[in-house]
Amino acid sequence: MRLSKYYMPTLREVPADAEIPSHQLMLRAGMIRKTCSGIYSYLPLGLRVLRKVEEIVRRNMDEFGGQEIRMSIVQPKEIWEASGRWEKYGPELFKLKDRAEQEFCLGPTAEEYFSFLVANELNSYKQLPLNLYQFQIKYRDEKRPRFGLNRSREFLMKDAYSFDVDREHMIESYHNMEECYDSIFTEIGLDYVKVDSDSGQMGGNLSIEFQALSEIGEGELLYTKDLSYAANREKCPVIYKIEDNSEMLPVEKVHTPGAKTIEEVSKVLNTTANNTVKMIDLNIKGKPYFVMIPGDRELNMVKLVNFLDVNEFDIEMMDDEMIKSCNSHPGFSGPIGLKGEIIMDSRIKDMRNFVVGANEEDYHLINVNYGRDFEAIDAGDLLNANEGDLAPNGHGELLLRRGIEVGQIFGLGTKYAEAEGAYYLDENGKRNPIYMGSYGVGVSRTITAVIEQNHDDYGIIWPLCVAPFEIIITTVNIKDEDQRRVGEELYEKLSKDYEVLFDDRVERAGIKFNDRDLIGIPLRITVGKSAKDGVVEFSKRSDMENREELAMEELYERIKEEIK
Ligand code: ATP
Ligand code: MG
Repeated sequence: MRLSKYYMPTLREVPADAEIPSHQLMLRAGMIRKTCSGIYSYLPLGLRVLRKVEEIVRRNMDEFGGQEIRMSIVQPKEIWEASGRWEKYGPELFKLKDRAEQEFCLGPTAEEYFSFLVANELNSYKQLPLNLYQFQIKYRDEKRPRFGLNRSREFLMKDAYSFDVDREHMIESYHNMEECYDSIFTEIGLDYVKVDSDSGQMGGNLSIEFQALSEIGEGELLYTKDLSYAANREKCPVIYKIEDNSEMLPVEKVHTPGAKTIEEVSKVLNTTANNTVKMIDLNIKGKPYFVMIPGDRELNMVKLVNFLDVNEFDIEMMDDEMIKSCNSHPGFSGPIGLKGEIIMDSRIKDMRNFVVGANEEDYHLINVNYGRDFEAIDAGDLLNANEGDLAPNGHGELLLRRGIEVGQIFGLGTKYAEAEGAYYLDENGKRNPIYMGSYGVGVSRTITAVIEQNHDDYGIIWPLCVAPFEIIITTVNIKDEDQRRVGEELYEKLSKDYEVLFDDRVERAGIKFNDRDLIGIPLRITVGKSAKDGVVEFSKRSDMENREELAMEELYERIKEEIK
């Protein structure tokens, strides 16, 4: 491709609303352009990378027994109602109506749709197992779209679904896909970890996330040094016991003017946070819930959602009016004399003589104890695990890192098959629901993970396998006859075997070099003054300082070595 004719509008300035390197660099390199919040278009360079990632995923999926199909983006409401997710999926679901007032959604995922597809056609155990997959644009009306393709509202996903006769075979299919994903992300060269994950509204209880390690990742990963345990924070149980057998002291009301936060209260009362109890006042569909956790810890919303079996999007913080209507006072909620459902983390039971709000402005109660002074529903473990906590498997302390979720796999069981009527007849003619698994790769998000892990101050450093082009030829001065000729010859010859971008623009050398660093093509050939002697410079984007002067034949050999 000749850069003089290529649509690659690079930007010098860092775009103001792009916060993370991959987003900035994709805009600056002319890979993508924003349409509106969370919606992007791919320009030629970006589309080439997307296709590269797609091709790696496709080849691996085929090798591991998947068969590619393509379902429509628009999905009928009925199949979503059958599974209960028309409501449960919440405000992320893009809904629409046709002229006859029929309702549809733009698929955010396709468990229902694939079950529906096979429901009428898979009749016999002889047709199983089966693994169907697609590359399809997905739509999710994310609450906070951000970071470019990392969390967008329109994105490319590879989604696969396995169909099996029973749980045991489903688990086999699940591990087959786990292996496939390992192969994909290893091939792409990502530094990633696999973590146990909460399966959320998806159902099934069996799930692994593939997380590319990155500071900007939204996934919080807790793992042991020996990697014998690794889980998403949403899922990680907290092994943290309180054993306090002190005698219960009489409750006392104390004046704590203006002290609303745990920090302020501990300070005023000259105690420590772990001797206080934090009360989180929640409004769930108009009903008041008060959640109690040890003052030095944080509430894990996913654990609470699972315990209450509610939708996360239905949970709001209580407003002042509602707090007051529950006999409490904003910032001073406590369990004694409160109107509303009180839920607590198990550990509250074992705490002694702790501090709570007095439901009255500027007052707290001290020496409060569960059982004697108040009752509450024990919800088990409601806490976020922290770095330094003991690992659930006992292998030392937990470490914390952040990751970008590039893929996730689920063993679903029969939830969707039952909802959509996907049954098969076994050897004895008995009708059974099909066991399913569901497997997603965020193809577009994977690009952002690659860039987060492979860039420097000058731009992107593409690994060869997903680079938009393998080689870039830069003529320092295209008006110089020798340089132009050598550049053209190289371009002609190399293009036969490789993907080559030829910077034949009439531009200052500095601009060409900056663009070259920015777009990050792995192998670089600079055609400069030595062209007249048949010598050019070869370097790699990943090792820019190391420049080799090579004659043509040497250059071809060198490139062959690099691109096997
Ligand atoms: P997240 O927790 O990041 O919102 P998810 O768990 O809801 O993601 P899945 O339903 O597991 O996502 O979807 C499969 C894959 O699709 C994810 O692993 C991720 O790589 C990708 N993905 C999900 N949401 C987005 C998004 N808003 N933008 C880009 N990619 C996404
Ligand atoms: Mg996920």
